[in-house]
Amino acid sequence: MFVEVAVPAPLTHALTYGIPPLLGAPAPGSRVLVELGNRKVLGLALQLTERPPAGVAQIKNIVDVLDAEPIVPPELLRFLVELANYYLVPVGEVMKLALPTLSKGEAKRVQAKEPTLQVKSVGKRVQFVEVIPETEIQDIKGQASEILSYLREHGATPLARLEDTWKNARPAVSRLKQLGLVRVEDRELPRDPFFRDPVTRDLAPEPTDSQRAAMETVDRALRAALPSAFLLHGVTGSGKTEVYLHAIASALELKRGALVLVPEIALTPQLVARFRARFGDGLAVLHSGLSPVDRRRMWDQLWRRQVAVAIGARSAIFAPVPNLGLIIVDEEHDPSFKQEEGTRYNARDMALLRAHRAGAVCILGSATPSLETEHLAREGRVIRLRLPSRARRMSMLPKVEVIDLRKAERGPSGDPRISKPLHEAIHETLDRREQVILFLNRRGFAPSVVCESCGAISMCPLCSVALTFHRSTGLVRCHYCDYQRRFEGYCRLCRSHKVSLEGLGTERLEDTIQRAFPGARVARLDRDVASGSKAADILERVRTHEVDILIGTQMVAKGHDIPRVTLVGVINADGALSMPDLRATERTFQLLVQVAGRAGRGDIQGRVILQTRDPDNPAIVAAIHHDVDGFLAREIQARAELAYPPFSRMVMVRIDSPDEQRCRTAAGYLAAAARASTLVHLGEVEVLGPAPAPIARLRARYRFQILLKARERRPLRFVAQVVQEAEPRLPAGVHVAVDVDPISML
Ligand code: ADP
Ligand code: ZN
Ligand code: ZN
Repeated sequence: MFVEVAVPAPLTHALTYGIPPLLGAPAPGSRVLVELGNRKVLGLALQLTERPPAGVAQIKNIVDVLDAEPIVPPELLRFLVELANYYLVPVGEVMKLALPTLSKGEAKRVQAKEPTLQVKSVGKRVQFVEVIPETEIQDIKGQASEILSYLREHGATPLARLEDTWKNARPAVSRLKQLGLVRVEDRELPRDPFFRDPVTRDLAPEPTDSQRAAMETVDRALRAALPSAFLLHGVTGSGKTEVYLHAIASALELKRGALVLVPEIALTPQLVARFRARFGDGLAVLHSGLSPVDRRRMWDQLWRRQVAVAIGARSAIFAPVPNLGLIIVDEEHDPSFKQEEGTRYNARDMALLRAHRAGAVCILGSATPSLETEHLAREGRVIRLRLPSRARRMSMLPKVEVIDLRKAERGPSGDPRISKPLHEAIHETLDRREQVILFLNRRGFAPSVVCESCGAISMCPLCSVALTFHRSTGLVRCHYCDYQRRFEGYCRLCRSHKVSLEGLGTERLEDTIQRAFPGARVARLDRDVASGSKAADILERVRTHEVDILIGTQMVAKGHDIPRVTLVGVINADGALSMPDLRATERTFQLLVQVAGRAGRGDIQGRVILQTRDPDNPAIVAAIHHDVDGFLAREIQARAELAYPPFSRMVMVRIDSPDEQRCRTAAGYLAAAARASTLVHLGEVEVLGPAPAPIARLRARYRFQILLKARERRPLRFVAQVVQEAEPRLPAGVHVAVDVDPISML
């Protein structure tokens, strides 16, 4: 007997090993220790075979079998193999990405016969206070009474947290304890920020008619236990989340698990809170802030069926959800579902695949569907469920006004990018004690530093990218690599001290706005101020109205639901339109509709002011009228005429090297190999390039790209594989990456 093993190495195929009689055959999906070269590594047993592959002279035996039972459900194992095959990536690399238990550290521990990671609780213990249910109501006054009603509503709460709000929480709690109304216990503090605060359990609101129709359709599909896919196409604020929550409850009733993918989990604490409010803490939240131990713990909880619902960003697509019955992809159009390095995969596309293979239901939700999903819906391969209006009765879509920046009068701040109408609208909104979001897709203070004497722009020494000046740190920084240096205040080329800081970033906007509205409480949300849980803190301050004006990058456009935000200002709607990308128009439209959708979600009519130099651009015109259908129809047509995705398939071959000449030569060689191989499938595959990438140099490596394009997947794969197999013949230092269904064209 032999066994195919996925090893964590850049090999396209699994390796075959023999099974020594004493060990017994490993179950597919269990870990095995094998020799690879002169190292010992942990691999995953895929399948048993009777015969070794042809042409292999000597076959090594596996060294050890670690698990008596598989550690990966068969459904997930098959999915991972299929994913590797689809994206033309080594199956072992996918396993390593997906399975926390295949890490290098784990392999070392196994060899050293150390116990594997302790997944028992190691959290800090703190005092929790909790109401004893069904106690008699007594006449208590003051802080003790406030604390008691808080606890009744919120459940067990750390004593220290009560002290944040009530100065005398400690004596008050001991009085309540004496009266037998509360108990105080040492408990483990959840180390995960998503679980730190208690949440109030809530009940589902009465669904609207269109919510009910969508819920019933999904329920029928779940009960039929046949694979089916839906596009939940609802305007912003239409209550898509309620449909998700209902679908999850239905799946759980049928004893099936559910998986929820969201674009950026750090920005959606509110969504997690809503899930906890409905389902309690029986939820695995997977996010990049988890330590290896916590990740492992979440994984184990799912695998041992202690929890059946997982929520997370794109890598949660690999979660071992038991008896998977439902996958939800919220904001399915979001580009962050595509991983852009290492194993390049798209979690949205893989959600459709995994659900289909598992006989599960897949729901893709969006107010602005991607063209790919729209195309599937038009072809009837996913079923469209519509939520045409906002869920709350009083809430209407905001009015959108356009300001032509070429003609508009400047506001009193003097900055040409804050027009008079925008300035006035901010003023009025603040007067009404309502909140403002200002969106600008550029972080830092000034996006370019230009010498007034010689005209030189400060560039990153490692990339073909201009450096951005950040005033808070006094640095100029490259937004594509980690390069940064102190801002010297003179030109490196001609030594002139006349340098100007050009353009507007969020930092500068914050400064300008704060000076224009000195009484307002201004906060900023972008990647410079908000990593991980800090983003949640800033959003919480906006929600509790400790902030009047929130300024930020696309982080402010995500699904936030803040009722008192009634004005959204888009400082420059044109930012993304000039990108060399076939999806630039689509992206701009989605971003504008999403950010506009933050306005007027409560009972007060919202207003959006959109500043642009290109008011006739179709993406902008459609966004003004909330005309999603019109936009999709036009864009679908344009893609069809140009034979762009979704009407064709693409593979981007990226070639990079520290040596420009070598890189160019290698790219030429690969393109020639690709062209020669297209003869096999006469004319079915187009080979475009090689050409320097739009960012021609990145992290000190020159970059070229070749774009392969075809109507059908099979011939395209054939050519892509020819290119991949040519890589070992390239000169040293040249690296090739194959990107199947590329999103970024940079
Ligand atoms: P979406 O995800 O579509 O943008 P949400 O699910 O965030 O919308 O819902 C928007 C708001 O409407 C939320 O405050 C939500 O609590 C509320 N809501 C949703 N469904 C209903 C309903 N059936 N009745 C009343 N309010 C609802
Ligand atoms: Zn100069
Ligand atoms: Zn750089």
